[in-house]
Amino acid sequence: MAVSIQAVRGMNDLLPSDTACWQQAEQVLRETVASFGYSEVRMPLLEKTNLFSRAIGEVTDVVEKEMYTFEDRSGESLSLRPEGTAGCVRACLEHNLIYNQEQRLWYMGPMFRHERPQKGRYRQFHQLGVEVFGLNGPDIDAEIILLSKTLWDKFGISDNLKLQLNTLGSSEERMAYRQKLVEYLEAHFADLDEDSKRRTHTNPLRVLDSKDPKTGEILLNAPKLADCLGAESRAHFDKLRDILESCGVNYELNSRLVRGLDYYNLTVFEWVTDALGAQGTVCGGGRYDGLVAELGGTPTPAVGFGLGMERLILLLTTLDKLKERNAVDIYVVGACADAQKEQAKLSLRLRSDLPHARIMNHCGGGSFKKQFRRADKLQAKAAVILGESELKDGTLTVKDLRAGDSGAQQTLPYAEAVALLQRLLAA
Ligand code: ATP
Ligand code: MG
Repeated sequence: MAVSIQAVRGMNDLLPSDTACWQQAEQVLRETVASFGYSEVRMPLLEKTNLFSRAIGEVTDVVEKEMYTFEDRSGESLSLRPEGTAGCVRACLEHNLIYNQEQRLWYMGPMFRHERPQKGRYRQFHQLGVEVFGLNGPDIDAEIILLSKTLWDKFGISDNLKLQLNTLGSSEERMAYRQKLVEYLEAHFADLDEDSKRRTHTNPLRVLDSKDPKTGEILLNAPKLADCLGAESRAHFDKLRDILESCGVNYELNSRLVRGLDYYNLTVFEWVTDALGAQGTVCGGGRYDGLVAELGGTPTPAVGFGLGMERLILLLTTLDKLKERNAVDIYVVGACADAQKEQAKLSLRLRSDLPHARIMNHCGGGSFKKQFRRADKLQAKAAVILGESELKDGTLTVKDLRAGDSGAQQTLPYAEAVALLQRLLAA
């Protein structure tokens, strides 16, 4: 017997019971970004590898060990996108969308990282990404944070997410801080965990992110980036906090929040939940003013976030915030001469007269009992019956399936039957 083939580890199928939840969540995301005036962009899933090594940074976890990289048939190195910002900037430069103009953009789709699969961490996962170009003030940083907060409000999960906020200063301030931090880490080198030892000289700010308890203790007395900030960076951060406070957004300052990708400056933030265990960061972002120039464009201020859709949906299901949704409203059953033809015609007519209803036509014949069992299994709200007498008189019989056995069944002229169906679906 042939061995059956399974999906690639860490890459999930979304089955009908999952897609119902995903569609509900996606609809709220789409409505919300639209309500802030953002426009959608769709980039390829595959880009040249050097786009990511240049944008994200050679010595980040993502580029060092998480990318799916391969040579295509012409020998060019390509990578499945591990995140969307690099491709979004590439697309904007290639099509001249950000020279001397503002853009407020969003995208949604799969990302790929070769990580150890576990709850909330997969090798193919999905993000909603929001990116804004051409605005350098704290007001736009506040706007994208408020956009994310609006999402939690709409989903009813605001109480379960905490905002963590930090500022990384300008790249000069960060360099000055980096030096102080490296000196401090070198003085405590022997007691650092292995990852932090390695990072001390490649990417020292990432040491701040270490989850190792011993390293954590050492970091308590490490120099603080906040002490290296100039007046301008401090004013940017203060203004951001002022706007957030006046909009009623609570936050925690977290001086160890540095984020995993290299390109951030000034504002960085994460929305974190404790309802999902270790994979608690649902959304993270910040300002990346250097990236556009790094990728060959005119220097352009930019800010954005990435929201992990799997983690959002895990959170929504854990907190029971998604409505169960059946796939069918009206089930068309029948027993008349030439049933296949007549039912197909009737179903088309009903779909055109009830454009928002989900109408399934019973196929495969069988007894009324069997047909109604199908309708019940699908949790249809109503059944429409087309029998000999209905066909002869031009009527339809409508049965309210949610009323149980006591549910009245009415035979009505077509137009009245449609009106009754409309009322049943609205109820
Ligand atoms: P983490 O610290 O959890 O690895 P990250 O800093 O690598 O996250 P980002 O690159 O900022 O994550 O991506 C933004 C969001 O995308 C994360 O906050 C998370 O919700 C989601 N995300 C990142 N990696 C994965 C993954 N492998 N599986 C599922 N979701 C992910
Ligand atoms: Mg990661």
